[in-house]
Amino acid sequence: MSVLVFVEASNGKIKKAGFEGVVYGKLSGSPVTAVVCGEADAAEVASLGEYGANHVLHVKKNYDAGALVDVMAAAADKTGASLIVFPFDNTGKAIAPRLSARLKAGLVSGALGVPTTTEGAFKVKKNVFSGKAIAEVEIKTDKKIVAFSPNSVGLQKSEGTASIEEFSPTVKESKIKLVETKKLEGDVPLPEAELVVSAGRGLKGPENWGMIEELAKVIGAATACSRPVADAHWRPHHEHVGQTGVAIRPNLYIAIGISGAIQHLAGVNQSKVIVVVNNDPEAPFFKAADYGVVGDAFQVVPRMIEAFKKFKASQH
Ligand SMILES: Cc1cc2nc3c(=O)[nH]c(=O)nc-3n(C[C@H](O)[C@H](O)[C@H](O)COP(=O)(O)OP(=O)(O)OC[C@H]3O[C@@H](n4cnc5c(N)ncnc54)[C@H](O)[C@@H]3O)c2cc1C
Repeated sequence: MSVLVFVEASNGKIKKAGFEGVVYGKLSGSPVTAVVCGEADAAEVASLGEYGANHVLHVKKNYDAGALVDVMAAAADKTGASLIVFPFDNTGKAIAPRLSARLKAGLVSGALGVPTTTEGAFKVKKNVFSGKAIAEVEIKTDKKIVAFSPNSVGLQKSEGTASIEEFSPTVKESKIKLVETKKLEGDVPLPEAELVVSAGRGLKGPENWGMIEELAKVIGAATACSRPVADAHWRPHHEHVGQTGVAIRPNLYIAIGISGAIQHLAGVNQSKVIVVVNNDPEAPFFKAADYGVVGDAFQVVPRMIEAFKKFKASQH
């Protein structure tokens, strides 16, 4: 099965989800053609070979989602790919359904692992009911599209090289105009973060976020928050996780002063390890936690910072 993978790049760098998409593609079938969309350094593009790409089509222009549907349709036509892979992030969510309609290809969004093809049936697992259940879905069309959840397969590097070709397909004129792009604060983008420190209304007010930021900095994590915190403008909206916010799947999610309402859990319960700090032993979040600390955040968090700092110092 030949596989086409959408890879987003900006400011010379390929997003982590792009590398993971190539790994996903390689584990699903081969050969793998990566379609790099946006400005990317030559070394970044070439390194896709180490993740499993055999060939790269590099689209150097920056296009909006509508035009990227044209790009991916042209790439699918050129390569005859039977499987097209997207990350289930904002860009993937904007392109994959439109491409599915254009190519009349079955689409599974939010896939959790690589497809299986037992007895010719192409099946993929995905979350349903806000992560309360896992469904197995079969795609029956000849062309298939899968949008995988972040951290589904992780990054696996090996030896390999990819041939690189510049690709400039004809795209329709865009109906929208990009006016300005503002880079979000923070060193680690939340959807890509492997470690996340998140806090809720238990923190009492925005003036108390210093210790959350410090904890995140010490362990190299992104910061997140519950919805009421963003609604009250204690934190920016792009940090809001949950059913109506960003859905994340980090390796570690530390939730501080968050009750664990179902709408919050919907966006974080796929995290590999969940640590909860809450002063109410009956807080629902403890039911979803791997580790829990019953205690006052204002006492526990400074001690966590101290402990992580000591641990880091002992590693040198
Ligand atoms: C349609 C809909 C969609 C929603 N979508 C989302 C969503 O996407 N994301 C989301 O987060 N919410 C969402 N919500 C809101 C959700 O239902 C909860 O109201 C919200 O998650 C609660 O936020 P919280 O846990 O920060 O606050 P609270 O519920 O007020 O909980 C605060 C917690 O902090 C603890 N605490 C208090 N003081 C301390 C202390 N000193 N130390 C330690 N712990 C302390 C308390 O015991 C409590 O458990 C949605 C609601 C609806 C109706």
